Amino acid sequence: MIQRLCIIGVGLIGGSLAMALHRAGYCESVIGASRREEHLKQAVDLGVIDGYDLDLGAAVEGADMVVLAVPLGAMPGVCAAIKGYLADDAVLTDVGSAKASVVQAVREGFGELPASFVPGHPIAGTEKSGVEAAFPELYQGRRVILTPLEHTSEQARHRVRAMWETAGAIVEEMSVEHHDEVLAATSHLPHMLAFGLVDSLARLREHDEIFRYAAGGFRDFTRIASSDPVMWRDICLANRDAILSMMQRYRDDLAEIEKAIRDGDGDQLLEIFQRAKDARDRFCH
Ligand code: NAP
Repeated sequence: MIQRLCIIGVGLIGGSLAMALHRAGYCESVIGASRREEHLKQAVDLGVIDGYDLDLGAAVEGADMVVLAVPLGAMPGVCAAIKGYLADDAVLTDVGSAKASVVQAVREGFGELPASFVPGHPIAGTEKSGVEAAFPELYQGRRVILTPLEHTSEQARHRVRAMWETAGAIVEEMSVEHHDEVLAATSHLPHMLAFGLVDSLARLREHDEIFRYAAGGFRDFTRIASSDPVMWRDICLANRDAILSMMQRYRDDLAEIEKAIRDGDGDQLLEIFQRAKDARDRFCH
């Protein structure tokens, strides 16, 4: 059980966690904090949090679990604002989509890495944002990756794991570096492709016609280009090297397809498409 849960950033991810834990009866009270009072009032009205404080230091005081659920670019400021206010027995965790940058923000904000800090990342979400998009089933059956650090305490690790399992998630652990490489491939690169494709088509002169005739495949492929631009700017800046390396690799593979088309090499195209189809069919089943 959590006595007092403090969620900083009550949007899609933080709000959904609060809802899932509320529903499970796992928290005595949930306090929210962020910049704009209207968002926090809305979260109270929706029953997502029990109360709020606009002062981040006051919000974390007395909490035994603090979850940082703000965009990556806001993590350094939030860490600096809560330093000195965390209770001795409080566990600190986050939900950021890239881990090395959050670890750095916590180290710089606190002057050291607290043993009670457990970096985390739920592999769940939608292209929507804000508390109005939150729903309690978001983490049901989804994976949450924890990237505990050398000095992370066993107890903190155990408490964060228990929190996510209560929210319905399957918890796994890996290193910070491995997390950032894997996510660059499975999440960050596809978002770059979707944003890039939609932007490219939208800037064609005949774009109205292109979007009018876009069918299901186009919608499926580009859904994630409706994701929050601020969040994705922050992810690109935070996981720069891993994303650049995946983009380079993808450019090379795309060049192979381009060459096969230019050469009229149907066998080569068939080989690539069959390999991709087999891989996706295997992965989806
Ligand atoms: P969101 O719906 O936009 O929520 C972000 C929240 O942070 C808002 O409630 C916002 O409220 C608050 N906030 C923003 N800047 C702040 C600041 N400087 N100080 C205090 N509060 C601030 O975003 P989200 O999708 O939940 O994403 C939150 C985190 O989850 C990000 O780190 C993201 O990388 C990670 N994540 C997202 C997904 C996804 O699919 N969306 C999946 C996994 C992980 P105010 O405007 O009132 O400040």
